[in-house]
Amino acid sequence: MSHLILNRKLLNTIHLLSDLVANQIAAGEVIQRPASAVKELLENAVDAGATKIQLIVKDAGRTLIQVVDNGKGMNFPDARICFERHATSKIFTAEDLFQLKTKGFRGEALASIAAIAQIELNTKPGEEDTGTVLVVEGSQVKEHRPTTTQYGTSIAVKNLFFNMPARRNFLKSDSIELGHIEEELNRISLIHYEIDFAFFHNGKLVQQLPPSNQKQRIINVFGAHFKDKLFPVELTTESVKIEGFIAKPESAKKKKNEQYLFVNKRFVKHYLLTHAIESTYKEFIPEGHKPAFFIEITVPPSTIDVNICPTKIDVKFQDDRMIYAFLNATVKKTLGTLTLIPQIDFNTHPEYDFSALKQRGDIKSPSLTLNPNYTPSTSKTAHKLSTSDSWQQFLSGIKDTTFTTPQSESEKIDFQCDMSIKEEFINESQFKCLLFSGDFLLFIWKDALQILEVSAVRERILFEYYLNALENTPVVIQQSMFPETITLSASAIEVVNDILPELHALGYELEQIDRASFAVNGKPVGEEEGDVQQTVEQFVEMYKSQLFLHKTDKNTTVAKSLARQKCTTKLLMNSETEQQAFIKQWLHCKLPHISPSGKKVSRSFTNEDIKNFFA
Ligand code: ADP
Ligand code: MG
Repeated sequence: MSHLILNRKLLNTIHLLSDLVANQIAAGEVIQRPASAVKELLENAVDAGATKIQLIVKDAGRTLIQVVDNGKGMNFPDARICFERHATSKIFTAEDLFQLKTKGFRGEALASIAAIAQIELNTKPGEEDTGTVLVVEGSQVKEHRPTTTQYGTSIAVKNLFFNMPARRNFLKSDSIELGHIEEELNRISLIHYEIDFAFFHNGKLVQQLPPSNQKQRIINVFGAHFKDKLFPVELTTESVKIEGFIAKPESAKKKKNEQYLFVNKRFVKHYLLTHAIESTYKEFIPEGHKPAFFIEITVPPSTIDVNICPTKIDVKFQDDRMIYAFLNATVKKTLGTLTLIPQIDFNTHPEYDFSALKQRGDIKSPSLTLNPNYTPSTSKTAHKLSTSDSWQQFLSGIKDTTFTTPQSESEKIDFQCDMSIKEEFINESQFKCLLFSGDFLLFIWKDALQILEVSAVRERILFEYYLNALENTPVVIQQSMFPETITLSASAIEVVNDILPELHALGYELEQIDRASFAVNGKPVGEEEGDVQQTVEQFVEMYKSQLFLHKTDKNTTVAKSLARQKCTTKLLMNSETEQQAFIKQWLHCKLPHISPSGKKVSRSFTNEDIKNFFA
């Protein structure tokens, strides 16, 4: 008896959701905010083969999102069926997912939007005389009739979430929602630079993007300041093609919003591949800063799966390690060219903007990593590999190559010119300098007053010196006749034992003699007498905090920590000759303009800047 009641209860409890509710729920996954609708509509316009797309938005998308395209349009019945769930013209079978050439394939965007907004669609295929108008509201078709309209499609989405007040309450301020919309437009326009885009907000033209090449499109989207900051990345193999631009390390910002990775023309977020790019910048940009990049990866559609999240922003590769290695090596190679000729940051602008400096004729610093076999060439370097096996070979070759060839004759000249300026400065034995309050070095160069922060500069010099000791030439050790003994805490002992070989390369020969002590059998040649116990203790503390804060490789962490430890004491430079030598050492650094901990180390003031102080 009780069994029967239970069954009846179950039968009464379960029911099928109505289409409207099912679509509203599906919309929750795909359409979270106005920007999500913008993304779907723009993608549909691109898939329809449009060469011109207008985005018209009112009130940050709350009241209107309209996309007008000149694509292939829809006929009368298609204009109706496109709002059904699972209605798509882009795939037929599940296998087609692995041959995708379109952005869409799930057939659910329009059905979702129609469930949560009021829509007016006007559309006409190029070859037909009459078009169609269709009005849908909360999945209900209100109007479906022929009309006269221009070819292409216009979809106006009005009052998004009109029937879902709870969702509407989740929306943020207009400026935030508008920011998301702009970002979606960027994600499409930066990869479809062949398409003409116009974006209007509240009746005003906000952005006009004429068809162009990718570099020009980046400049049109982000501004002219990008002009001299972009460097091409290019690699073609049988299994992958990588192209696009990376920005100079100096232009890295704290925000991540200038990072664009595209796979088969689709904007994607991919932690591993982003890491492949970011990791190459590690030593060249301040902590927490993010390099800008615009990189397009093309692989056979059969080697990726894009159907792993409803918004299609994630992608899975068959062999992501291979892509990682190629991407990492290619970016490294381009970056090698840039960092080889680092620019001294004699600019007062906090964003490391060198454009103003350029006009005055800037100084470039020298580098110790010159490749003697380098011969400038005017040809553009694209690495063509014939078999996918040869990528190993390609990658191993990259390690030895410091340069990529300059891109053009003008760059070649510019490069040679840089070198001569550097030489000129280094060889200049007489230049006036002055140590101010022991903390700042002042000198005049190129009609500007340069100010260096001594301790930050020293940290940079020492860091590069130690890193070189760890990676190439170990510091020469002076053996002690009567070794000192140092006593350390248990955790410090663990750290020291872990990095004994590194300490040895830096000139410290330590040997554990009992549970808590080490004998100092050798110290770096020329090291002044000092408190080794304190040096090691402080060094270990800094090493531990570096390890905790930043996940860099061991050598970098060790070099950074020792450089910092050394800078806890003040550098005494009594003579001008010592001060000049210090400046020259600084100029030899690979990255003179920032300290290893990411601080700006120099400032420059022109006559004009100083006049302004008195204005
Ligand atoms: P999907 O893009 O995944 O196919 P959508 O719901 O976004 O699903 O669109 C459904 C269908 O409507 C598309 O497959 C396409 O045939 C048609 N469609 C949508 N937008 C346009 C447009 N702007 N121009 C022409 N056809 C369109
Ligand atoms: Mg779509």
